[in-house]
Amino acid sequence: MSRIFIISAPSGAGKTSLVKKVCKTLDFVRPSVSFTTRKIRDSEQDKKDYFFIDKKEFEERISKSEFLEYQNVYGNLYGTTLDSISHISKQGHDVILEIDYRGMLAVKKVIPEAISIYIVPPSIEILRKRLENRAEDDKNVIQKRMRSSLKELEYSKYADYILINDDFSLALNSLIGIILFKKIPVNLIKDYISLTTSFNKLIV
Ligand code: 5GP
Repeated sequence: MSRIFIISAPSGAGKTSLVKKVCKTLDFVRPSVSFTTRKIRDSEQDKKDYFFIDKKEFEERISKSEFLEYQNVYGNLYGTTLDSISHISKQGHDVILEIDYRGMLAVKKVIPEAISIYIVPPSIEILRKRLENRAEDDKNVIQKRMRSSLKELEYSKYADYILINDDFSLALNSLIGIILFKKIPVNLIKDYISLTTSFNKLIV
């Protein structure tokens, strides 16, 4: 049975890099590609990072009830379609949704079994620096995102897990640990974690 993981964080907390790396490391986990009306960034690819569509098409999809959830984030619409999730789960994979805190709450309401993980930066100052270094947005947008981040951090208490992204590899290992938890088929542990000889003897 496929599981759904919801990864949420204020922008600049590093969730996109973590999610990309998790999906590279664990081949049974696939990201759900959201739809958005936001403009594509230079570093992004249509249909891979998002399905970039205009507002009219987004609204048509809303009226056809295609979305499991959708939100207006910083003035742009973002949504997760039911199709995207069922397509991944039909292939037998677990699904990762990388969405905002309101999306996290909305999905948990509809699918309480979904596992939510909220990623927080080690400090507000580091969050600000990460947003500035990313240089993807202008100063006004950065300020807007900082203000929202402070508000958003309060919602971390509703997540099943909180993960502090201070050191990337530590955060990545913790995230992998949460995803592997209860999954447990021994071959997975063998594949992804280096085992001691004695443990190897136990499981072969
Ligand atoms: P960005 O524009 O930086 O890619 O994303 C802005 C915010 O929108 C991030 O917090 C991101 O996780 C969130 N987001 C991306 N896709 C979705 C979605 O399908 N639903 C919701 N609710 N938020 C999304």
